Amino acid sequence: MSLQNRAAELRISLQQDGVLSVEQRKNKLELLKKKIIAIQPEINQALKDDLGKSAFETYTTEIGFILEEISYTLKNLKAWTETKKVKTPLALFPGKSFIHAEPYGVVLIISPWNYPFQLCLSPFIGAIAAGNRVVLKPSEYASHTSSLIKRLITEIFSDKEVCVVEGGLEETQALLQQKFDYIFFTGSTAVGKVIMKSAAEYLTPVTLELGGKSPCLIDETANIDLAAKRIVWGKFLNAGQTCVAPDYVLIPEHLQNLLIDKMKHYLSVFYSPNVESSKDYPRIVNHRHFDRLKELITDCDVAHGGDFNREDHFISPTILKDVQWTDKVMEDEIFGPVLPILTYTKIDEAVAHILKYPKPLAFYFFSEDSSQQKSIVSQIPFGGGCINDTVVHLANPHLPFGGVGTSGIGSYHGQKSFDTFSHYKSVYHQSSVIDVPLRYPPYNENKLSWVKLFLR
Ligand code: NAD
Repeated sequence: MSLQNRAAELRISLQQDGVLSVEQRKNKLELLKKKIIAIQPEINQALKDDLGKSAFETYTTEIGFILEEISYTLKNLKAWTETKKVKTPLALFPGKSFIHAEPYGVVLIISPWNYPFQLCLSPFIGAIAAGNRVVLKPSEYASHTSSLIKRLITEIFSDKEVCVVEGGLEETQALLQQKFDYIFFTGSTAVGKVIMKSAAEYLTPVTLELGGKSPCLIDETANIDLAAKRIVWGKFLNAGQTCVAPDYVLIPEHLQNLLIDKMKHYLSVFYSPNVESSKDYPRIVNHRHFDRLKELITDCDVAHGGDFNREDHFISPTILKDVQWTDKVMEDEIFGPVLPILTYTKIDEAVAHILKYPKPLAFYFFSEDSSQQKSIVSQIPFGGGCINDTVVHLANPHLPFGGVGTSGIGSYHGQKSFDTFSHYKSVYHQSSVIDVPLRYPPYNENKLSWVKLFLR
Protein backbone atom coordinates (compact mmCIF):
# COMPACT_ATOMS: atom_id res chain seq x y z
CA MET A 1 0.00 0.00 0.00
CA SER A 2 1.55 3.31 -0.95
CA LEU A 3 1.67 6.11 1.61
CA GLN A 4 0.04 8.56 -0.80
CA ASN A 5 -3.11 6.42 -1.16
CA ARG A 6 -3.76 5.29 2.40
CA ALA A 7 -7.01 7.20 2.88
CA ALA A 8 -8.37 6.35 -0.57
CA GLU A 9 -7.61 2.63 -0.19
CA LEU A 10 -9.29 2.45 3.20
CA ARG A 11 -12.29 4.28 1.73
CA ILE A 12 -12.57 1.70 -1.06
CA SER A 13 -12.52 -1.16 1.43
CA LEU A 14 -15.12 0.63 3.57
CA GLN A 15 -17.39 1.00 0.55
CA GLN A 16 -16.83 -2.57 -0.63
CA ASP A 17 -16.89 -4.41 2.69
CA GLY A 18 -19.12 -2.04 4.68
CA VAL A 19 -18.93 -0.78 8.25
CA LEU A 20 -17.91 -3.37 10.86
CA SER A 21 -20.96 -4.53 12.83
CA VAL A 22 -21.20 -3.65 16.52
CA GLU A 23 -20.39 -7.30 17.35
CA GLN A 24 -17.30 -7.23 15.11
CA ARG A 25 -16.11 -3.98 16.71
CA LYS A 26 -16.58 -5.47 20.18
CA ASN A 27 -14.65 -8.60 19.19
CA LYS A 28 -11.78 -6.49 17.89
CA LEU A 29 -11.67 -4.38 21.05
CA GLU A 30 -11.81 -7.50 23.25
CA LEU A 31 -8.91 -8.94 21.28
CA LEU A 32 -7.00 -5.67 21.64
CA LYS A 33 -7.50 -5.81 25.41
CA LYS A 34 -6.31 -9.43 25.59
CA LYS A 35 -3.21 -8.71 23.51
CA ILE A 36 -2.32 -5.65 25.57
CA ILE A 37 -2.54 -7.73 28.74
CA ALA A 38 -0.41 -10.43 27.12
CA ILE A 39 2.37 -8.08 25.99
CA GLN A 40 2.58 -5.91 29.13
CA PRO A 41 6.29 -6.63 29.70
CA GLU A 42 7.05 -5.45 26.14
CA ILE A 43 5.00 -2.29 26.63
CA ASN A 44 6.86 -1.61 29.90
CA GLN A 45 10.17 -2.06 28.11
CA ALA A 46 9.21 0.26 25.22
CA LEU A 47 8.16 3.02 27.63
CA LYS A 48 11.33 2.47 29.64
CA ASP A 49 13.42 2.80 26.48
CA ASP A 50 11.56 5.89 25.22
CA LEU A 51 11.09 7.85 28.45
CA GLY A 52 12.63 5.90 31.33
CA LYS A 53 9.14 5.28 32.75
CA SER A 54 8.69 2.94 35.69
CA ALA A 55 6.38 -0.07 35.33
CA PHE A 56 4.04 1.52 37.88
CA GLU A 57 3.71 4.79 35.97
CA THR A 58 3.37 2.87 32.70
CA TYR A 59 0.52 0.84 34.14
CA THR A 60 -1.38 3.72 35.76
CA THR A 61 -1.03 6.29 32.98
CA GLU A 62 -0.77 4.15 29.86
CA ILE A 63 -1.77 0.45 30.03
CA GLY A 64 -4.35 0.58 32.84
CA PHE A 65 -5.90 3.71 31.37
CA ILE A 66 -6.38 1.99 28.00
CA LEU A 67 -7.70 -1.27 29.50
CA GLU A 68 -10.25 0.74 31.47
CA GLU A 69 -11.27 2.73 28.39
CA ILE A 70 -11.79 -0.50 26.42
CA SER A 71 -13.80 -2.09 29.26
CA TYR A 72 -16.01 0.98 29.55
CA THR A 73 -16.56 1.05 25.78
CA LEU A 74 -17.38 -2.67 25.62
CA LYS A 75 -19.92 -2.24 28.40
CA ASN A 76 -21.71 0.67 26.77
CA LEU A 77 -21.20 0.29 23.03
CA LYS A 78 -24.54 -1.38 22.31
CA ALA A 79 -26.44 1.47 23.99
CA TRP A 80 -24.36 4.15 22.24
CA THR A 81 -24.96 2.66 18.79
CA GLU A 82 -28.71 2.21 19.17
CA THR A 83 -30.91 4.45 17.05
CA LYS A 84 -32.52 7.01 19.35
CA LYS A 85 -36.13 8.05 18.98
CA VAL A 86 -36.70 11.72 19.78
CA LYS A 87 -39.84 13.86 20.16
CA THR A 88 -41.62 15.20 17.10
CA PRO A 89 -43.53 18.51 17.33
CA LEU A 90 -47.26 18.59 16.61
CA ALA A 91 -46.64 20.61 13.43
CA LEU A 92 -44.94 17.51 11.94
CA PHE A 93 -47.80 15.11 12.86
CA PRO A 94 -48.00 12.15 12.19
CA GLY A 95 -44.29 11.40 11.56
CA LYS A 96 -41.60 10.12 13.93
CA SER A 97 -38.00 11.29 14.40
CA PHE A 98 -34.79 9.34 14.91
CA ILE A 99 -31.07 9.92 15.38
CA HIS A 100 -28.64 7.37 13.93
CA ALA A 101 -24.94 7.31 14.90
CA GLU A 102 -22.85 6.60 11.81
CA PRO A 103 -19.06 6.51 11.50
CA TYR A 104 -17.42 9.44 9.74
CA GLY A 105 -15.62 6.98 7.44
CA VAL A 106 -11.83 7.11 7.21
CA VAL A 107 -10.16 8.95 10.08
CA LEU A 108 -6.59 10.04 10.78
CA ILE A 109 -5.19 9.98 14.32
CA ILE A 110 -1.87 11.74 14.96
CA SER A 111 -0.37 11.38 18.43
CA PRO A 112 2.53 12.80 20.49
CA TRP A 113 5.44 11.20 22.35
CA ASN A 114 4.76 12.00 26.02
CA TYR A 115 2.18 9.27 26.71
CA PRO A 116 2.89 7.52 23.43
CA PHE A 117 0.84 4.38 24.08
CA GLN A 118 -2.20 5.92 25.76
CA LEU A 119 -2.56 9.03 23.59
CA CYS A 120 -2.41 6.93 20.43
CA LEU A 121 -4.78 4.15 21.51
CA SER A 122 -7.30 6.15 23.52
CA PRO A 123 -8.76 8.02 20.52
CA PHE A 124 -8.27 4.85 18.45
CA ILE A 125 -10.71 2.97 20.74
CA GLY A 126 -13.35 5.65 20.10
CA ALA A 127 -12.72 5.59 16.36
CA ILE A 128 -13.07 1.79 16.14
CA ALA A 129 -16.08 1.73 18.49
CA ALA A 130 -17.81 4.21 16.18
CA GLY A 131 -17.09 1.96 13.15
CA ASN A 132 -14.40 3.95 11.31
CA ARG A 133 -11.47 2.85 9.20
CA VAL A 134 -8.34 4.36 10.78
CA VAL A 135 -4.89 5.60 9.85
CA LEU A 136 -2.80 5.83 13.03
CA LYS A 137 0.35 7.98 13.15
CA PRO A 138 2.25 7.44 16.42
CA SER A 139 5.07 9.80 17.38
CA GLU A 140 8.51 9.29 15.87
CA TYR A 141 10.11 10.57 19.09
CA ALA A 142 8.86 7.54 21.03
CA SER A 143 10.14 5.09 18.44
CA HIS A 144 10.08 1.93 20.60
CA THR A 145 6.43 2.46 21.47
CA SER A 146 5.61 3.44 17.89
CA SER A 147 6.91 0.16 16.44
CA LEU A 148 5.27 -1.84 19.22
CA ILE A 149 1.91 -0.20 18.41
CA LYS A 150 2.38 -1.10 14.76
CA ARG A 151 3.01 -4.77 15.63
CA LEU A 152 0.08 -4.88 18.08
CA ILE A 153 -2.43 -3.33 15.70
CA THR A 154 -1.44 -5.34 12.63
CA GLU A 155 -1.97 -8.57 14.59
CA ILE A 156 -5.60 -7.62 15.19
CA PHE A 157 -6.73 -5.49 12.26
CA SER A 158 -6.29 -6.17 8.54
CA ASP A 159 -4.76 -3.44 6.38
CA LYS A 160 -8.26 -2.90 4.97
CA GLU A 161 -9.40 -1.81 8.42
CA VAL A 162 -6.51 0.01 10.07
CA CYS A 163 -3.15 1.21 8.88
CA VAL A 164 -0.32 2.34 11.18
CA VAL A 165 2.07 4.80 9.56
CA GLU A 166 5.37 5.24 11.40
CA GLY A 167 7.54 8.24 10.66
CA GLY A 168 7.95 11.96 11.14
CA LEU A 169 7.32 15.16 9.29
CA GLU A 170 7.53 13.78 5.76
CA GLU A 171 5.09 10.94 6.42
CA THR A 172 2.66 13.19 8.31
CA GLN A 173 2.69 15.74 5.51
CA ALA A 174 1.99 12.99 2.97
CA LEU A 175 -0.99 11.90 5.05
CA LEU A 176 -2.28 15.44 5.50
CA GLN A 177 -2.50 15.92 1.74
CA GLN A 178 -5.12 13.17 1.55
CA LYS A 179 -8.84 13.50 2.09
CA PHE A 180 -9.90 12.10 5.46
CA ASP A 181 -13.38 12.28 6.95
CA TYR A 182 -12.06 13.28 10.38
CA ILE A 183 -8.67 14.23 11.82
CA PHE A 184 -7.90 13.76 15.49
CA PHE A 185 -4.64 15.43 16.48
CA THR A 186 -2.84 15.53 19.84
CA GLY A 187 0.25 17.71 20.06
CA SER A 188 1.45 21.29 20.23
CA THR A 189 -0.62 24.37 19.45
CA ALA A 190 1.84 25.32 16.68
CA VAL A 191 1.41 22.02 14.83
CA GLY A 192 -2.34 22.12 15.59
CA LYS A 193 -2.53 25.17 13.31
CA VAL A 194 -0.76 23.25 10.52
CA ILE A 195 -3.26 20.41 10.92
CA MET A 196 -6.26 22.73 10.79
CA LYS A 197 -5.00 24.46 7.65
CA SER A 198 -4.57 21.08 5.91
CA ALA A 199 -8.00 19.95 7.08
CA ALA A 200 -9.58 23.14 5.70
CA GLU A 201 -8.60 22.06 2.18
CA TYR A 202 -11.25 19.30 2.30
CA LEU A 203 -13.41 20.88 5.03
CA THR A 204 -12.46 17.91 7.21
CA PRO A 205 -13.72 18.24 10.80
CA VAL A 206 -11.02 18.10 13.48
CA THR A 207 -10.42 17.47 17.12
CA LEU A 208 -7.28 19.25 18.31
CA GLU A 209 -5.94 18.19 21.70
CA LEU A 210 -3.30 20.84 22.33
CA GLY A 211 -1.33 22.33 25.21
CA GLY A 212 -0.55 25.59 26.96
CA LYS A 213 0.31 26.98 30.36
CA SER A 214 -1.97 25.37 32.96
CA PRO A 215 -2.07 27.44 36.18
CA CYS A 216 -2.33 26.16 39.72
CA LEU A 217 -3.82 28.71 42.09
CA ILE A 218 -3.60 28.36 45.88
CA ASP A 219 -5.58 30.61 48.22
CA GLU A 220 -5.21 31.59 51.89
CA THR A 221 -7.51 28.83 53.12
CA ALA A 222 -5.81 25.92 51.31
CA ASN A 223 -4.36 22.89 53.06
CA ILE A 224 -0.75 23.66 52.07
CA ASP A 225 0.63 20.27 53.03
CA LEU A 226 -1.86 18.41 50.83
CA ALA A 227 -1.53 20.99 48.05
CA ALA A 228 2.27 20.55 48.02
CA LYS A 229 1.94 16.75 47.86
CA ARG A 230 -0.64 16.71 45.05
CA ILE A 231 1.05 19.44 42.99
CA VAL A 232 4.45 17.74 43.23
CA TRP A 233 2.87 14.45 42.15
CA GLY A 234 1.02 15.98 39.16
CA LYS A 235 3.92 18.17 38.10
CA PHE A 236 6.75 15.64 38.23
CA LEU A 237 4.77 12.65 36.93
CA ASN A 238 6.49 11.69 33.65
CA ALA A 239 9.14 14.32 34.55
CA GLY A 240 6.66 17.11 33.87
CA GLN A 241 6.07 16.01 30.28
CA THR A 242 2.31 15.93 30.77
CA CYS A 243 -0.05 18.21 28.83
CA VAL A 244 -2.18 18.81 31.95
CA ALA A 245 0.73 19.16 34.40
CA PRO A 246 0.50 22.32 36.53
CA ASP A 247 2.71 24.72 34.55
CA TYR A 248 3.11 27.30 37.33
CA VAL A 249 1.89 27.94 40.87
CA LEU A 250 0.37 31.14 42.27
CA ILE A 251 0.34 31.50 46.04
CA PRO A 252 -0.10 34.31 48.62
CA GLU A 253 3.31 35.82 49.29
CA HIS A 254 3.55 34.77 52.95
CA LEU A 255 2.84 31.09 52.13
CA GLN A 256 5.52 30.64 49.45
CA ASN A 257 8.31 29.37 51.74
CA LEU A 258 6.00 26.99 53.58
CA LEU A 259 4.84 25.53 50.25
CA ILE A 260 8.42 25.09 49.02
CA ASP A 261 9.46 23.34 52.26
CA LYS A 262 6.53 20.95 51.97
CA MET A 263 7.29 20.33 48.28
CA LYS A 264 10.92 19.52 49.07
CA HIS A 265 9.74 17.10 51.74
CA TYR A 266 7.43 15.24 49.36
CA LEU A 267 10.00 15.15 46.56
CA SER A 268 12.40 13.47 48.93
CA VAL A 269 9.73 10.99 50.07
CA PHE A 270 8.62 10.21 46.49
CA TYR A 271 11.99 9.93 44.74
CA SER A 272 14.46 9.64 47.67
CA PRO A 273 17.04 12.39 48.29
CA ASN A 274 19.00 11.02 45.29
CA VAL A 275 16.44 11.48 42.48
CA GLU A 276 18.81 10.45 39.71
CA SER A 277 19.02 6.94 41.11
CA SER A 278 15.26 6.61 41.68
CA LYS A 279 13.65 4.02 39.38
CA ASP A 280 10.40 5.98 39.58
CA TYR A 281 11.62 9.22 38.00
CA PRO A 282 11.51 9.34 34.17
CA ARG A 283 13.83 11.07 31.71
CA ILE A 284 13.47 13.90 29.19
CA VAL A 285 12.54 12.54 25.77
CA ASN A 286 15.51 13.90 23.78
CA HIS A 287 18.43 16.34 23.71
CA ARG A 288 16.40 19.06 22.01
CA HIS A 289 13.90 19.20 24.88
CA PHE A 290 16.70 18.79 27.45
CA ASP A 291 18.53 21.84 26.10
CA ARG A 292 15.32 23.87 25.86
CA LEU A 293 14.47 23.14 29.51
CA LYS A 294 17.99 23.83 30.77
CA GLU A 295 17.92 27.19 29.04
CA LEU A 296 14.64 28.07 30.77
CA ILE A 297 16.07 28.13 34.27
CA THR A 298 19.16 30.19 33.51
CA ASP A 299 19.17 33.31 35.73
CA CYS A 300 16.29 32.03 37.90
CA ASP A 301 16.16 31.73 41.70
CA VAL A 302 16.32 27.93 42.08
CA ALA A 303 14.72 26.93 45.38
CA HIS A 304 15.19 23.22 44.78
CA GLY A 305 16.78 20.92 42.18
CA GLY A 306 18.41 22.32 39.07
CA ASP A 307 20.61 19.21 38.56
CA PHE A 308 21.29 17.98 35.05
CA ASN A 309 22.86 15.04 33.25
CA ARG A 310 22.67 15.53 29.49
CA GLU A 311 23.96 12.06 28.59
CA ASP A 312 21.20 10.47 30.64
CA HIS A 313 18.52 13.08 29.68
CA PHE A 314 18.08 13.72 33.40
CA ILE A 315 16.72 16.95 34.88
CA SER A 316 15.91 16.84 38.58
CA PRO A 317 12.56 18.17 39.85
CA THR A 318 13.25 21.89 39.90
CA ILE A 319 11.33 24.56 41.83
CA LEU A 320 11.84 28.24 41.01
CA LYS A 321 10.83 30.87 43.57
CA ASP A 322 9.80 34.54 43.28
CA VAL A 323 9.30 34.16 39.55
CA GLN A 324 8.05 37.26 37.71
CA TRP A 325 5.40 37.27 34.96
CA THR A 326 8.00 38.74 32.60
CA ASP A 327 10.54 35.90 33.12
CA LYS A 328 11.39 33.67 30.16
CA VAL A 329 9.97 30.61 31.93
CA MET A 330 6.52 32.30 31.81
CA GLU A 331 6.50 32.74 28.02
CA ASP A 332 5.56 29.27 26.75
CA GLU A 333 4.35 25.92 28.04
CA ILE A 334 7.22 24.39 30.07
CA PHE A 335 6.49 20.69 29.43
CA GLY A 336 9.24 19.46 31.74
CA PRO A 337 10.21 19.18 35.44
CA VAL A 338 10.51 22.91 36.13
CA LEU A 339 7.94 24.51 38.43
CA PRO A 340 7.87 28.31 38.73
CA ILE A 341 6.22 29.79 41.82
CA LEU A 342 4.76 33.29 41.62
CA THR A 343 3.26 35.18 44.52
CA TYR A 344 0.32 37.54 44.87
CA THR A 345 -1.18 39.73 47.56
CA LYS A 346 -4.82 39.80 46.40
CA ILE A 347 -6.48 36.88 44.61
CA ASP A 348 -8.09 39.25 42.08
CA GLU A 349 -4.60 40.21 40.85
CA ALA A 350 -3.74 36.54 40.36
CA VAL A 351 -6.97 35.94 38.41
CA ALA A 352 -6.36 39.02 36.26
CA HIS A 353 -2.89 37.69 35.34
CA ILE A 354 -4.23 34.23 34.48
CA LEU A 355 -6.83 35.85 32.24
CA LYS A 356 -4.10 37.62 30.25
CA TYR A 357 -2.88 34.22 28.98
CA PRO A 358 -4.75 32.12 26.39
CA LYS A 359 -7.41 29.79 27.85
CA PRO A 360 -5.48 26.89 29.45
CA LEU A 361 -5.96 23.16 28.92
CA ALA A 362 -6.15 22.64 32.69
CA PHE A 363 -6.64 24.74 35.80
CA TYR A 364 -6.18 23.72 39.43
CA PHE A 365 -7.48 25.54 42.47
CA PHE A 366 -6.52 24.71 46.06
CA SER A 367 -8.92 26.22 48.60
CA GLU A 368 -11.08 25.13 51.52
CA ASP A 369 -13.56 27.97 50.90
CA SER A 370 -16.51 26.63 48.91
CA SER A 371 -17.85 30.02 47.79
CA GLN A 372 -14.36 31.00 46.59
CA GLN A 373 -14.13 27.68 44.72
CA LYS A 374 -17.39 28.46 42.86
CA SER A 375 -16.38 32.02 42.15
CA ILE A 376 -12.91 31.18 40.77
CA VAL A 377 -14.16 28.29 38.61
CA SER A 378 -16.78 30.60 37.08
CA GLN A 379 -14.27 33.42 36.42
CA ILE A 380 -11.55 31.42 34.65
CA PRO A 381 -12.19 29.65 31.34
CA PHE A 382 -10.22 26.38 30.94
CA GLY A 383 -10.48 22.96 29.27
CA GLY A 384 -10.85 20.92 32.46
CA GLY A 385 -9.34 20.75 35.90
CA CYS A 386 -9.62 19.96 39.60
CA ILE A 387 -10.38 21.58 42.89
CA ASN A 388 -7.86 20.48 45.51
CA ASP A 389 -6.09 18.05 43.17
CA THR A 390 -4.14 17.94 39.91
CA VAL A 391 -4.28 15.88 36.70
CA VAL A 392 -6.76 13.19 37.87
CA HIS A 393 -9.82 14.74 36.19
CA LEU A 394 -8.79 13.05 32.97
CA ALA A 395 -9.16 9.60 34.55
CA ASN A 396 -12.94 9.96 34.83
CA PRO A 397 -14.60 8.64 31.62
CA HIS A 398 -17.72 10.65 32.50
CA LEU A 399 -15.76 13.91 32.17
CA PRO A 400 -15.08 14.87 28.52
CA PHE A 401 -11.40 15.76 28.15
CA GLY A 402 -10.23 18.57 25.89
CA GLY A 403 -9.10 22.16 25.63
CA VAL A 404 -10.66 25.46 24.68
CA GLY A 405 -9.29 28.30 22.55
CA THR A 406 -5.59 27.73 21.83
CA SER A 407 -5.53 24.66 24.12
CA GLY A 408 -7.80 22.74 21.78
CA ILE A 409 -11.02 22.05 19.93
CA GLY A 410 -13.34 19.18 20.85
CA SER A 411 -12.99 16.51 23.51
CA TYR A 412 -12.96 12.75 24.11
CA HIS A 413 -12.83 9.91 26.69
CA GLY A 414 -15.72 7.57 27.51
CA GLN A 415 -18.85 8.20 25.47
CA LYS A 416 -17.44 11.47 24.21
CA SER A 417 -14.84 9.47 22.21
CA PHE A 418 -17.62 7.55 20.51
CA ASP A 419 -19.52 10.80 19.87
CA THR A 420 -16.42 12.49 18.49
CA PHE A 421 -15.93 9.83 15.82
CA SER A 422 -19.64 9.58 14.94
CA HIS A 423 -21.85 11.70 12.77
CA TYR A 424 -25.31 11.93 14.29
CA LYS A 425 -27.65 11.56 11.34
CA SER A 426 -31.14 13.00 11.89
CA VAL A 427 -34.04 11.29 10.13
CA TYR A 428 -37.71 12.30 10.08
CA HIS A 429 -39.87 9.32 9.18
CA GLN A 430 -43.13 10.51 7.63
CA SER A 431 -46.37 8.55 7.48
CA SER A 432 -47.69 7.55 4.05
CA VAL A 433 -51.20 6.95 5.38
CA ILE A 434 -52.13 10.49 6.35
CA ASP A 435 -51.07 13.57 4.35
CA VAL A 436 -51.94 16.80 6.18
CA PRO A 437 -52.71 19.33 3.38
CA LEU A 438 -51.83 22.47 5.37
CA ARG A 439 -48.33 23.13 3.94
CA TYR A 440 -49.25 22.86 0.25
CA PRO A 441 -50.15 25.82 -2.03
CA PRO A 442 -52.46 27.46 -2.84
CA TYR A 443 -52.11 29.29 0.49
CA ASN A 444 -54.97 31.18 2.16
CA GLU A 445 -55.80 32.99 5.41
CA ASN A 446 -57.46 29.93 6.88
CA LYS A 447 -54.32 27.81 6.39
CA LEU A 448 -52.15 30.58 7.80
CA SER A 449 -54.22 30.83 10.98
CA TRP A 450 -53.81 27.06 11.47
CA VAL A 451 -50.05 27.30 10.93
CA LYS A 452 -49.94 30.11 13.50
CA LEU A 453 -51.50 27.77 16.04
CA PHE A 454 -48.53 25.36 15.67
CA LEU A 455 -45.66 27.79 15.09
CA ARG A 456 -45.64 30.50 17.72
P1 NAD B 1 4.13 18.01 18.21
O1 NAD B 1 3.03 18.95 17.86
O2 NAD B 1 5.53 18.41 17.92
O3 NAD B 1 3.92 16.60 17.47
C1 NAD B 1 2.70 15.86 17.53
C2 NAD B 1 2.58 15.02 16.27
O4 NAD B 1 2.56 15.87 15.12
C3 NAD B 1 3.71 14.02 16.03
O5 NAD B 1 3.13 12.78 15.60
C4 NAD B 1 4.53 14.64 14.91
O6 NAD B 1 5.05 13.66 14.04
C5 NAD B 1 3.52 15.49 14.15
N1 NAD B 1 4.13 16.71 13.61
C6 NAD B 1 5.15 17.45 14.13
N2 NAD B 1 5.41 18.53 13.36
C7 NAD B 1 4.54 18.48 12.33
C8 NAD B 1 4.28 19.32 11.20
N3 NAD B 1 4.98 20.44 10.98
N4 NAD B 1 3.30 18.96 10.36
C9 NAD B 1 2.58 17.85 10.57
N5 NAD B 1 2.76 17.02 11.62
C10 NAD B 1 3.73 17.32 12.48
O7 NAD B 1 3.90 17.69 19.76
P2 NAD B 1 4.81 16.81 20.70
O8 NAD B 1 6.12 17.49 20.92
O9 NAD B 1 4.82 15.39 20.24
O10 NAD B 1 3.94 16.89 22.05
C11 NAD B 1 4.04 17.97 22.94
C12 NAD B 1 2.85 18.90 22.84
O11 NAD B 1 1.66 18.17 22.81
C13 NAD B 1 2.75 19.81 24.05
O12 NAD B 1 2.37 21.10 23.63
C14 NAD B 1 1.61 19.19 24.86
O13 NAD B 1 0.92 20.09 25.70
C15 NAD B 1 0.74 18.67 23.78
N6 NAD B 1 -0.07 17.57 24.27
C16 NAD B 1 -1.41 17.76 24.38
C17 NAD B 1 -2.18 16.72 24.90
C18 NAD B 1 -3.67 16.86 25.07
O14 NAD B 1 -4.31 15.85 25.32
N7 NAD B 1 -4.24 18.04 24.94
C19 NAD B 1 -1.59 15.53 25.27
C20 NAD B 1 -0.21 15.39 25.12
C21 NAD B 1 0.56 16.41 24.61
